[in-house]
Amino acid sequence: MTNSASTASIPVATLGVPRIGPRRELKMALEKFWSGKIDEAALREAAAKIRADNWTRQRDLGVTVIPSNDFSLYDQVLDTSAMVGAIPKIYGWTGGPVSFETYFAMARGSQKGLSHKDSGDHDGCAHGHSHGQGVPAQEMTKWFDTNYHYMVPEFSKDQTFALSSTKAIDEYREAKALGIQTRPVLVGPVTFLKLGKGENRLSLLPKLLPVYIELLNRLAAEGADWVQIDEPCLVLDLDADEKAALKTAYSELALKVPGVKIMLATYFGELGDNADLVTKLPVAGVHLDLVRGKGQINSVLDKMPADRVMSLGVIDGRNIWRADLTRVFNFSNDAIALRGADRIQIAPSCSMLHVPIDLDQETDLDADLKSWLAFSVQKMGELAALSRALSSGRESVKDVFAASDDAAKKRASSPKIHNPAVQSRAAEKSSALSERKSAFSARQKLQSKVLGLPSFPTTTIGSFPQTEEVRKARAAHAKGQLSDAEYDTFLRKETETAVRWQEDIGIDVLVHGEFERNDMVQYFGEQLSGYAFTKHGWVQSYGSRYVRPPIIFGDVSRPKPMTVGWSSYAQSLTTRPMKGMLTGPVTMLQWSFVRDDLSRDQVCRQIAFALRDEVTDLEKAGIGVIQIDEPALREGLPLRKGDWKAYLDWAVDCFKVSQAGVKDETQIHTHMCYAEFNDIIDAIGAMDADVISIETSRSKMELLDAFVTYKYPNEIGPGVYDIHSPRVPEVPEMMELIGKARRNLSPEQIWINPDCGLKTRGWPEVKSALSNMVEAARQARVA
Ligand code: GLN
Ligand code: ZN
Repeated sequence: MTNSASTASIPVATLGVPRIGPRRELKMALEKFWSGKIDEAALREAAAKIRADNWTRQRDLGVTVIPSNDFSLYDQVLDTSAMVGAIPKIYGWTGGPVSFETYFAMARGSQKGLSHKDSGDHDGCAHGHSHGQGVPAQEMTKWFDTNYHYMVPEFSKDQTFALSSTKAIDEYREAKALGIQTRPVLVGPVTFLKLGKGENRLSLLPKLLPVYIELLNRLAAEGADWVQIDEPCLVLDLDADEKAALKTAYSELALKVPGVKIMLATYFGELGDNADLVTKLPVAGVHLDLVRGKGQINSVLDKMPADRVMSLGVIDGRNIWRADLTRVFNFSNDAIALRGADRIQIAPSCSMLHVPIDLDQETDLDADLKSWLAFSVQKMGELAALSRALSSGRESVKDVFAASDDAAKKRASSPKIHNPAVQSRAAEKSSALSERKSAFSARQKLQSKVLGLPSFPTTTIGSFPQTEEVRKARAAHAKGQLSDAEYDTFLRKETETAVRWQEDIGIDVLVHGEFERNDMVQYFGEQLSGYAFTKHGWVQSYGSRYVRPPIIFGDVSRPKPMTVGWSSYAQSLTTRPMKGMLTGPVTMLQWSFVRDDLSRDQVCRQIAFALRDEVTDLEKAGIGVIQIDEPALREGLPLRKGDWKAYLDWAVDCFKVSQAGVKDETQIHTHMCYAEFNDIIDAIGAMDADVISIETSRSKMELLDAFVTYKYPNEIGPGVYDIHSPRVPEVPEMMELIGKARRNLSPEQIWINPDCGLKTRGWPEVKSALSNMVEAARQARVA
């Protein structure tokens, strides 16, 4: 795209683009490679094609600062471990270039082991790795507060580093050969160390920096004039050592790599108390997230040395909404006035890894909704138009601005989004809405009378195996090959079999098995107003696992009951209590793209009211035990500790609104997957669910400590069996875990259940394991 204006145009950067390919080409290639259908050369070729397409697409759309090394076969943090040779001994690496075999062993465990399951939907426990024989994969955890997961670097005490992958150089060259000058992207040394594990990691910095220096000098020799170094840790609370490490790192790089200019990228929040530090770092440019950190612009620009190039992250790189260009234009113009046009770049707030690729692929979306959205391709278009407007005036792109203004206006008033009844209900605040009628101790007595459960009651977390057969039937139904009636009959049969089987082995509180559900968020989202779904809107969750997050675009309400039919049917099959099963408001929010025209707490509250109606309808239909899953509660914690309380206050209140409409006799359960509970134990206490089930088996009940210290008064089901592995635990193992729980909790508090849902498991192992679990409970009752 050429710019006819006389003024030099403002550079447009992207910081990074999605690497999965518009039709998930990367996943296809990886899976073929892993199953031996294609060789390494073919995988490399497929990857090179994606990169070339990404570069040319960016160039054609008007991006002028094009990244390289933003691509990854699996994960950019894993790439960094490979780059610096931070490869734990168990992978058998002895130096030299890191092979695909080593790289993928770190990503997924070795071939000899059991590879992890890509179940393709939420299990909430994204550490779904093998725990069997063979070499395990590296640990995986969330990248800041996104739903992207990175492979946690591991550092040993005697860790050494050496440049062990030339990926950054190779990809720079590859682009150059296509005639495209790029700005290579690296994960910064301090963020890399901070995100890893191993004692005293920061002290490794002096050993790590020479590798960065060598690499940067080689990039310079190849012709790279700028590099982008990502230090998103700069938006976190940093201690004095971490701040000192940043100073050391960037002073060293400035000194030893004079030939390359560094664009220091910060994102996912504002710099806050790290702003002073950043202004002092000797780097050529700084990128700011001005979507999440809008308010920091003036104070940061004021302090920043005058020669520093500022990259303004003005387009949301994490969400899918079309920008209000007029607003962004005015905002950017003010910044330019402060700084001077020759020292400004514009960019998305962060890498666009977190958004789908191209909205044009969505042919079935509502036309209005579509006009309010922008995926990565559209965002580049917005940036290009913005750049043009900033250098040559809005007149030069007036059609683009007119369309943006029009969309913003329509969105602000569309009845598809705005439902006054929903809004006024969500605005209601009273403790009567959040509190159960009586305190837990009174409820417990009533519930125990009504339910008549034995001590150490047994239950499961909800889902039973989503077998090949179940998936096939769902797919056939979606394609119209199976009629509604046939599909319904199939699901009823599956449910009935599961109910009979639970009765046979003697589980106390049954579940219907969730066979009708594709995914624990999608299933509800599809039945709620205000939610939409894409066909191709995939984003990388980790490695080759991609998700299509639902889009919460409007006020959320529940047109009709969502689960009452299935739960009542299942209850009709048995005299034992059948547990109703819902996904909680915070999890419904966390695992979706959320509208940006309403605060998250308000959106969550709307969902809470929709669920409240479902909960009371279930109760009316005779369901006396209802579980509201909140596996995402902890991951919603803001990046800065100072923001935690406000979040937890509204998150807990939303949960309470969803549960509190029932009578005292109705027992409300909640479930959370493996999580560090210490930080949120007060919040869990405040949630006041009658029963909480948690994942504790792999920590050998250590996770219970938080509950013990807190003196958690309500009932609790600490998982006694690890559902992430097909291994069947024996009765004595479970007895041991139950024993630990008994030593710390009172016997009336304890439930016996697995760690999580069983959807990723097979029936044979589930049957053996649950039979053992019921036997363990029996033994506990007489012990
Ligand atoms: N009820 C859900 C299930 O059993 C809960 C899953 C989760 O918390 N991740 O599948
Ligand atoms: Zn779980």
